[in-house]
Amino acid sequence: MLRQVAEGVLTHQSELLENNAVVVQGRTGALLVDPGLTESEMTCLADDLRALGQPVAAGFATHPDWDHVLWHPAFGEAPRYGTARCAARMREVRSDADWRARAAEGLPPEIAEETPLDLFGLITGLPSGTEQLPWDGPEVRIIEHPAHAPGHAALLVPERGVLVAGDMLSDVLVPNLDELNETNDPIGEYLVGLRLLEDAADSVEVLVPGHGSVGGAAEMRARIEQDRAYVLALREGRVPRDPRVGPTAKPGWEWTTDISAEQVRRLAERSERGGTSG
Ligand SMILES: [Zn+2]
Repeated sequence: MLRQVAEGVLTHQSELLENNAVVVQGRTGALLVDPGLTESEMTCLADDLRALGQPVAAGFATHPDWDHVLWHPAFGEAPRYGTARCAARMREVRSDADWRARAAEGLPPEIAEETPLDLFGLITGLPSGTEQLPWDGPEVRIIEHPAHAPGHAALLVPERGVLVAGDMLSDVLVPNLDELNETNDPIGEYLVGLRLLEDAADSVEVLVPGHGSVGGAAEMRARIEQDRAYVLALREGRVPRDPRVGPTAKPGWEWTTDISAEQVRRLAERSERGGTSG
């Protein structure tokens, strides 16, 4: 079911992992961001869009993680954009002869059978530095930053006061550092991402995170502080004291505690190897 969060902006939340798909209504069709996980969720969303008279005019993947790059034929042939880095990362993933088996292995068992992979990760990269999404609808600004995953981008829809944050600023999911390679500075990169989102905060009335609940302007600022404090605790080598971690984690999200401990451990390993941990 679609829920309106601002004028012309609707969201659809997946049952598992609370992924938020976002629909921005345009002149002749909708922009669909991170459409969701399962066959039934995506066909339901496609039906809802048809009922609204808003076929999908363009898609966008906020970043190259499996739960943000799925797609369904029911959405039609619209271009599916992402940043150049996001598209390059997905090309790399799909270039492996075993990509499908690997992607299937990485799926949560609860939905592995119901998650369509045929169109997984087929992203059209926008030229790097592209600041606005090319589509026939309200202006959508692309805020690319290095936090969490290569080529991660938040989308700002200034006319609607909406920020689509991707995998940051969640009330259920903790910051997850980009540790894909050995040479980056995942903490420094995360802090840069948070700063870029903070720079946009004056234009935001509605924050839609990739997972969890939608918030207002004050909530957005509180979540920026919360994520920053989390990342700084990791930098100090301790598991953050955070409502999303430990006994206060939302039921079903207890694994964020393990992720946190794991991140502390990996950062320690990195600095032992002489790499940077921020
Ligand atoms: Zn995600």
